[in-house]
Amino acid sequence: MRLDKLLANMGYGSRKEIKKLCKNGAVKVDGKPVKDSSVHVDPDAQEVEIFGEVVHYREFVYLMMNKPQGVISATEDAVEETVVDLLAPEFFAFDVFPVGRLDKDTEGLLLLTNDGKLAHELLSPKKHVPKRYFAQVEGRVTEEDREAFRKGVTLDDGYKTLPAELTILTQGSVSEIELIIYEGKYHQVKRMFEAVGKKVTYLKRLAMGGLELDDDLEPGEYRELAEEELELLR
Ligand code: URA
Repeated sequence: MRLDKLLANMGYGSRKEIKKLCKNGAVKVDGKPVKDSSVHVDPDAQEVEIFGEVVHYREFVYLMMNKPQGVISATEDAVEETVVDLLAPEFFAFDVFPVGRLDKDTEGLLLLTNDGKLAHELLSPKKHVPKRYFAQVEGRVTEEDREAFRKGVTLDDGYKTLPAELTILTQGSVSEIELIIYEGKYHQVKRMFEAVGKKVTYLKRLAMGGLELDDDLEPGEYRELAEEELELLR
């Protein structure tokens, strides 16, 4: 691909600006200054440097974030802080967006990418991609609730949920559970518990498809997916 296109895609400026940078000797290919920004380079085989920094070219980026509470799953908002606001400048040029939504008060696994095709596949209601959540729930979650979720519960708008797998971890005045759902209706987990007369007080997503949240990521931290992790989503 053209050198100026590669660098523009990576957010180093417009083609015009990159032309100037090349003229000024800021850009090297395989260690040699390249003055002509229209030359073709192979990003897989050649090393491109700008201001002495190696450029890791890729078309798509895939980030796993441990979404913290208090930020919204959007790309921009006039008032609220968004998950995209948490990213370092090196990712700005990629125009990443969150794949699906977690509520403002929900934590956990959120994928951010600029790969619209993958996002579409993961969110397609036809694909039934599993999502696993951990929740704290007010009151005693029971075997009856487990059975109700297995059969499907009717939400406040009349929608009957697909069979879901509830695992009760602890029972008490506050119960801890894990729940796997195969769809993603608005506030689904909270509304499923409401349907059985209970209130979710803490919610965290642990997994999506085959992808598990990395335990080492503190809320608000993120990292790029490893190749094998990406394969789990395809
Ligand atoms: N279900 C919810 O209720 N909230 C979320 O953020 C995700 C699933």
